[in-house]
Amino acid sequence: MSASELLFDVEPDAAPRRFADVALALPLRTTFTYSLPGTMSAEPGNRVRVPFRGRDLPGVVVALRDDSGAVPIERVRPVRVVLDRDVVMPPALLLLAQRVASDYGCSLGEALDAMLPSVAKQRGVRKLPHVELAVPVDLAHAAVEELEEKHEQRARVLRAVLEWSGPMPTLQLERQTNTSASPWRTLVKHGTLRLVQLDEESEPLEPDTSACGPAPVLNDDQRRAVDAVTAWVDRRAHRVFLLHGVTGSGKTEVYLRILERTRELGRSAIVLVPEISLTPQTVGRFAARFPDVAVLHSGLTGAQRAREWHRLSRGEASIAVGARSALFAPVRDLGLVVIDEEHESSFKQDSTPRYHARETAIARCEIESAVLVLGSATPTLESFGRAKRGAYELLTLPVRAGKGTMPRVLVEDLRKEGKQQAIGGVVISRSLQMQIQERLSTKEQVILFLNRRGFAPVLVCPSCGAAVKCPHCDVSLTWHVRRARLVCHWCQHEKRRPEACGHCSHPRLHELGAGTERVESAVRQLFPAAIVARMDADTMRQRGAHERVLTAFRKGQIDVLIGTQMIAKGHDFPDVTLVGVISADTGLFVPDFRAAERTFQLLFQVAGRTGRGSKPGTVIVQTLCPENYAIAAASGLDYERFVQQELAFRRATGYPPYSRLVRVVFESKRESEAKDAGVALRGGLRELADVEVLGPAPAILAKVQDRHRVHLLLKCFTAASFTVAMQRLATVEDLSTHTLRVTLDVDPMAMM
Ligand code: ADP
Ligand code: ZN
Repeated sequence: MSASELLFDVEPDAAPRRFADVALALPLRTTFTYSLPGTMSAEPGNRVRVPFRGRDLPGVVVALRDDSGAVPIERVRPVRVVLDRDVVMPPALLLLAQRVASDYGCSLGEALDAMLPSVAKQRGVRKLPHVELAVPVDLAHAAVEELEEKHEQRARVLRAVLEWSGPMPTLQLERQTNTSASPWRTLVKHGTLRLVQLDEESEPLEPDTSACGPAPVLNDDQRRAVDAVTAWVDRRAHRVFLLHGVTGSGKTEVYLRILERTRELGRSAIVLVPEISLTPQTVGRFAARFPDVAVLHSGLTGAQRAREWHRLSRGEASIAVGARSALFAPVRDLGLVVIDEEHESSFKQDSTPRYHARETAIARCEIESAVLVLGSATPTLESFGRAKRGAYELLTLPVRAGKGTMPRVLVEDLRKEGKQQAIGGVVISRSLQMQIQERLSTKEQVILFLNRRGFAPVLVCPSCGAAVKCPHCDVSLTWHVRRARLVCHWCQHEKRRPEACGHCSHPRLHELGAGTERVESAVRQLFPAAIVARMDADTMRQRGAHERVLTAFRKGQIDVLIGTQMIAKGHDFPDVTLVGVISADTGLFVPDFRAAERTFQLLFQVAGRTGRGSKPGTVIVQTLCPENYAIAAASGLDYERFVQQELAFRRATGYPPYSRLVRVVFESKRESEAKDAGVALRGGLRELADVEVLGPAPAILAKVQDRHRVHLLLKCFTAASFTVAMQRLATVEDLSTHTLRVTLDVDPMAMM
């Protein structure tokens, strides 16, 4: 216990004078009343520790009261300790927590717990457990080979440490390999790995402000947008704006100006950007303009995060820039929230509470009379639909600001390419080859995009047609050449390539389809003199690899960068004049109502990576279905055309923006248990008005990690019917048992 905790501790048997309702971070949909003994005082929004079922648990005071309520006074137990002098959860955030709890079906305590990340609670530098190799590298490699047969998880863990090269945080290791602590502990016990405690990084962050020039003079479209937004910030009134501007149209400059105005008024602001674009450059653009920016994202160490959080809480910083959870930054007098790239799926949290930062931002801005600006080149159908209905005000930036021009887009119909164009299993059309050659000779840069990692997504037997599947999941294993392993992209299971087909013993399996690894090998074969780099989740397993590759590319030390969606977003490379999309079709046939929207967004965003400097850019889109409306509209860089067709489709099928979705997933090792639970729930939902219930049906991924998955989907066509449905479903996760897992997902982003 620290000294500051002791300061507030009081004899528990002093006479109770007042009472506090405390929310605990447990899935219990009720608060608990405790007494405040002696001289102890607390306010709503204070964190406390209280006794609960024989344990000592943290909680947040949500209300004070004069009596003990329904609890007989002699049974009320005292608060043990008040953890802070200042209110860490101002009243507005307490209200917001209530909204999150009711909209997403979690307990108030769980909502508060997510809003107050544990790292923000601590001070000072912590020691963090890391593991490193305790044997020479070649011995470790040999150990991987040996462990693989009998101890696959240990092999996986050891390989990850090898790839990381250096002491690896155990938390990251467990997350990346989808294992518990037990495999690495065993490796430590056997002397293969060594456990070391290292100080976590606590240096303050230095944003990179080098690439930031002086503020440009706004063009007319930008000026109109800035004026429209600041008028509402000045008025201290709530309003939502959708800033629809093509890539490079100067949206960030608009954000900077409205932030400037918000600060002038003495109010605070929050800027949310997708995790993937939280590079030092992005942060640098804000930090170069304003002295008091705080940065919050998961790449920070606990100590760094705590420092930034307290700066905001104390009012030393007035602008929070961060990923999803920065929405809960404890800023004072919030005037403005900006969500950049509002279409990004990373704004949705995929663990409890499963909130969507966009929907939750609307709630926070309503509560605090603040303005919300949603920015994107490819707004979601949800946001565009609401803007069309007049719920949001639409602001448009139709042309690129500064030097950039929109690229020229050429569609390559792969059905017309002869088979002879396939180089090592990858089709690179003649015109794409020629364009790459041209860039290499003029020393301009190329990006090649394919949203699938590994070498080949499937190994099939040419004789009986069987594919090599994951033993735990209902998916095929991806062949990774460099690691020489088959890998499950869902549960991380790995295995060696079988010598022969497991069904008919045919001696040679065929590599079907292509991933980024295969594209890399084809490009090296075609252009042996080019300097080629690949950027995907596999090549980024080494510490710091991400920044190293991006910096080298920006400096012109790489000619061709091949990658997955990691390279599609946010980055600004002025010397890239060619983007090749190896296949536009990878996500098109996924049975998800957002498949077309995702394909359109991704193509539009990759196209935005070129033509950002003074030289014009070219995009080549290879596809087997050029007539598909998402691909055709993306090729014409025509958002309007796409959105008109897509809205018609959504209206006909009753998907968002014409409904709000609620999904319930049942998972069990016994298929019948999952199915029966789905059927039972469905029976109780029959009479809901203005709600369509689909299912129960097997989820798209019908089995993951040996669990069968069944889901139920509700389309709620009115706000009132959503509220009624949520009243019915709020406690559905309580149906979980030790064999059945029930998950409630409101505004689901994935239907897998
Ligand atoms: P977006 O956020 O829409 O992708 P940015 O704000 O990054 O666009 O702007 C793209 C480029 O244009 C940047 O280099 C930026 O400095 C420049 N820029 C923005 N607005 C102007 C302007 N009014 N005049 C000149 N250059 C501008
Ligand atoms: Zn698997």
